[in-house]
Amino acid sequence: MAVAGDAKMIQLDAITKSYRMGTNEVLALRGISLKVENGDFVSIMGPSGSGKSTLAHILGLLDVPSTGSYQLNGKEVSALSEDALSVLRRDEIGFIFQQFNLLPRMTALENVDLPLLYSKKSDSNERALSLLEKVGLTTRVGHKPNELSGGQQQRVAIARSLINSPRMILADEPTGNLDSISETEIMAILKDLNAQGITVIMVTHEEEIGAQAKRRIRMRDGLIQSDERLLPIGAPTATDVTAKSAQAATSGSDWLAYLRQGLKTLAANKVRTGLSMLGILIGVGSVVAMLALGTGAQKAIEAQLASLGSNLLVLRPGSVRIGGVAQEAGTTTRLALEDGLEIQSKIPDIKDIAPSVTGRGQVTFMNKNWSTQIQGVSTTYARMWAAQPLVGRFFSDDENSVRARVAVIGTTVLRELFGDQSPIGELIKINKVSFQVIGVLPEKGSNGYRDRDDTIVIPLNTAMHRLLGKDYVDAFDIEVKNFEAIPIAQQQILDLLYSKKRVPTSQQQDAFQIRNMADIQEAMSQSSKTMSALLAAIAAISLLVGGIGIMNIMLVSVTERTKEIGLRKAIGARRQDILMQFLAESVVVSVIGGLLGILLGGVASLVLSWITGWATSVSAQSVVVSFLFSAMIGLIFGIYPAKKAARLHPIDALRYE
Ligand code: ADP
Ligand code: MG
Repeated sequence: MAVAGDAKMIQLDAITKSYRMGTNEVLALRGISLKVENGDFVSIMGPSGSGKSTLAHILGLLDVPSTGSYQLNGKEVSALSEDALSVLRRDEIGFIFQQFNLLPRMTALENVDLPLLYSKKSDSNERALSLLEKVGLTTRVGHKPNELSGGQQQRVAIARSLINSPRMILADEPTGNLDSISETEIMAILKDLNAQGITVIMVTHEEEIGAQAKRRIRMRDGLIQSDERLLPIGAPTATDVTAKSAQAATSGSDWLAYLRQGLKTLAANKVRTGLSMLGILIGVGSVVAMLALGTGAQKAIEAQLASLGSNLLVLRPGSVRIGGVAQEAGTTTRLALEDGLEIQSKIPDIKDIAPSVTGRGQVTFMNKNWSTQIQGVSTTYARMWAAQPLVGRFFSDDENSVRARVAVIGTTVLRELFGDQSPIGELIKINKVSFQVIGVLPEKGSNGYRDRDDTIVIPLNTAMHRLLGKDYVDAFDIEVKNFEAIPIAQQQILDLLYSKKRVPTSQQQDAFQIRNMADIQEAMSQSSKTMSALLAAIAAISLLVGGIGIMNIMLVSVTERTKEIGLRKAIGARRQDILMQFLAESVVVSVIGGLLGILLGGVASLVLSWITGWATSVSAQSVVVSFLFSAMIGLIFGIYPAKKAARLHPIDALRYE
């Protein structure tokens, strides 16, 4: 019962503590029963190994007993959860260590302020400054621990233990590492605190130090050997402490505090931080650049297709069966030259129409041999397909009507037959028929299925009557006047052909095939989208590797800062606080890495666009996505190390070397 005025602060009953060392069991405490009243000043003495520190850690809630009961202010604490213990440590107890345990990268003032991060009290520096003044360090507030003497460091540690106004100070050999002058100073401070009503429990092995307490307990082999009162307790100042609130949810301002701390520790390890950022930076950078490159490639393809004109239709015969008898494919729906003329004259939306035949041809020049595609076309072809030769010329209408044996060759054919030699005016043989080369087609590249430069274009009439022996055409390339008219024109063409060739309704579906450029564009931009998705996926893998790099660094950092984690827990940090601290660090690393990566990706895409000649474009979407992705990487890969840190038991972490 925590009744106001109840003077018993601590009540231990048959406390034992055993450590397991391999198969051995060490009994450090063998049954300690003890009552400590409010306002007392107790010294615990005894030879080394007698269990003094073990007892102090249990009293300070840094460790839990193996068996027995511990009541603090009338409340059983041996069964409390770790977080509840953290809160009690934070609000009730100030612990002072022999080794001071200050955080080396922080100034004296920041060290004193640190517990406020976990108690959510306003961290105005006023209180910390007045405490530092109280321990006589007004002139040293901005100094780091390595710029302070041992005595000064211990005074900073005492100020830190007082910041949350604890009702009890636990000190384990507080003067053990100090010279005699500092020793006197520290004892004066402790006595002064006790005079103000704070209960002090102090472990020491020095007789003259222990003699200064009001009560002296001697231990030997894990048991209390003697317990004597040296001075009366004085007036205990009792207040009900159980009313103090325990939990506080993490709020936005805490996040800021964690981020600030995270930035600080990261700044202290610049090289390491830089290296782990590099992974994320390269990952995000390549995602952004690859997405930009993909978009650029897509736009380039679309522009190329648009230059061909999106108003083009390609009409081919389909295959039908008439009267249930299997016909040779396309027999009844073969297209004749006059079909084209009729389409052009009867359908007003048609701008131009170009018949063509195709076939394979064996081409020879000197001793070179090449098999390629032969296209017989009309002169309209050159304009419609933007195929005006850059070298030489296209054939004329006259040459077409006299079935002249002239050929315009694609660049692949040029390379295979002529190498570096000029082909213009040379005679080649196509299927043993002599042709004169009059021009070279502009390079078209591959459309993904076939090499569009592996072709020879010759006059339509020459192809039909001299080379391929066809009296019909294979296809009509039809140019519609404007894009909007395409669906109507398409239907009109089909209707005209159905009635002209008397195709029964049941067969109309397969009689002809009309493809428009919009369909083809759609198919091609689809394949380029797939391509850029693939590139982005590969880049995303490097982002993943970057994330693993962060995890690695954070794990190292957790191991390296085990002692720091122990100290933070000792002064009241809950699991959640430690978790947040480490998460904040990995998120800061990945977010900064991500932002730099976006920058790098932007620069890289500019360079890529300069190299490829494509107008690469960094989309806002890809920036947002990769930024969020990198923040998420930081969270996900930070969770494991952060959890590992948060799980550490305070006293084990403090003992870690
Ligand atoms: P003191 O502070 O009086 O010198 P300790 O409380 O540190 O004594 O130790 C009491 C006994 O418990 C010693 O025998 C010591 O070896 C043992 N001990 C203390 N801590 C551990 C530990 N973490 N693991 C195993 N044995 C321990
Ligand atoms: Mg000890």
